[in-house]
Amino acid sequence: MPTLAIFGSTGSIGSQALEVVRASEVHYDVKVLTAWSNVEALATQAREFHPEVVVVGTLDAAECYRNRRRDGQERVLVGEEGLEEAAAWPGVDTVLSAVVGAAGLRLTLRAVALGRRVALANKESLVVAGDLVTEAAAASGAEIIPVDSEHAAIFQCLAGASTREVDRLVLTASGGPFLGRSREDLAYVGVDEAMDHPNWTMGAKITVDSATLMNKGLEVIEAHWLFGMKPGQIHVVVHPQSIVHSMVEFVDGSTLAQLGPPDMRLPIQYALDYPVRNRSAWPRMDWTERHALSFQPPDMQTFPCLGLAFAALEVGPAATAVLNAANEVAVAAFLDGRISFNGIPDVNEAVLDRLGGEEAHALEDRLQLDGEARIRAKELIGKAGN
Ligand code: NAD
Ligand code: MG
Repeated sequence: MPTLAIFGSTGSIGSQALEVVRASEVHYDVKVLTAWSNVEALATQAREFHPEVVVVGTLDAAECYRNRRRDGQERVLVGEEGLEEAAAWPGVDTVLSAVVGAAGLRLTLRAVALGRRVALANKESLVVAGDLVTEAAAASGAEIIPVDSEHAAIFQCLAGASTREVDRLVLTASGGPFLGRSREDLAYVGVDEAMDHPNWTMGAKITVDSATLMNKGLEVIEAHWLFGMKPGQIHVVVHPQSIVHSMVEFVDGSTLAQLGPPDMRLPIQYALDYPVRNRSAWPRMDWTERHALSFQPPDMQTFPCLGLAFAALEVGPAATAVLNAANEVAVAAFLDGRISFNGIPDVNEAVLDRLGGEEAHALEDRLQLDGEARIRAKELIGKAGN
């Protein structure tokens, strides 16, 4: 029986992964489930899936969890160390890394270093340390199967083609809720408007990232590390219908694309079942109906985060780590009502200007730089709020 560890199981990706497991033809044994603070949902999941271990964020959360699962047989681990221990849990074949933010890096690295297959939703781990993650995978032989829909599409289009045969990757972007708006229009948009994504229902952070196009910027960096493409070979095109999930243009001029309804259960199932495709009951495209698919260039002036991501990628992984850290702080501040929507790219740019030239090769140095970037972002936000 294939075995799974699902990190971030109470989140949008994690809970959809459990839907996939529930409906799958394959009988998966779920050994690890994790949540940060939502112990209620985690306890409900544990009742259904009987994991060997769960991880929660704090000792308080662990106590609350135990109170809800007095007769539970699973071990309860805590915090970042708990996540790392669970990432090395014996007998796990596939680790789904679906924690949000740089918090997913250590567990991802641990699983990769141990040669586990990693179904990767946590794009931030590649943005912070794509060099270290891919080095660890090369050393251990770990396979990284992307869950992010664009990268899952590219992975399927590549199907083992060599880098030499590829001219460019074309990442599609929905454009988010503010497609067609100007930067002035966006000065006063609220959290509710930013959270109202036209095609996808996702966690709060990635939903805001989709509205700023930072998500597409993070995905450009993710594609660079996953597929070994130079920044100039990665293109972004706005495709508001979110049906073409991304494309690969080959050296002979042929383009392959992967299509489907915007539903994350498809790429999640693909990553868990890979290399096999199993039947699914998820909604499908009805190709007998009339569909219009449109494509247009992204508006880099209104959405500066995309250009910042390309610029940071040209500098290197320490710069992309700085950008990611600033963005995590800025998005949290926007969600709290402490900065405006346009404040997000402003904070990101200022922090990148200040710290984007720093060097940090080793993991601990990289994480220290991540911490400095967070402090700098908080200082800027504090000033903006006064
Ligand atoms: P989410 O906020 O819905 O869920 C995040 C999960 O991580 C929850 O289980 C939460 O408890 C846990 N978590 C939060 N902070 C943590 C911390 N500091 N330490 C440990 N665990 C923590 O997020 P999501 O939308 O499911 O996104 C998860 C990841 O997948 C992100 O990296 C996101 O970019 C990526 N992704 C999501 C989607 C989507 O459709 N939601 C699509 C593509 C990629
Ligand atoms: Mg995506």
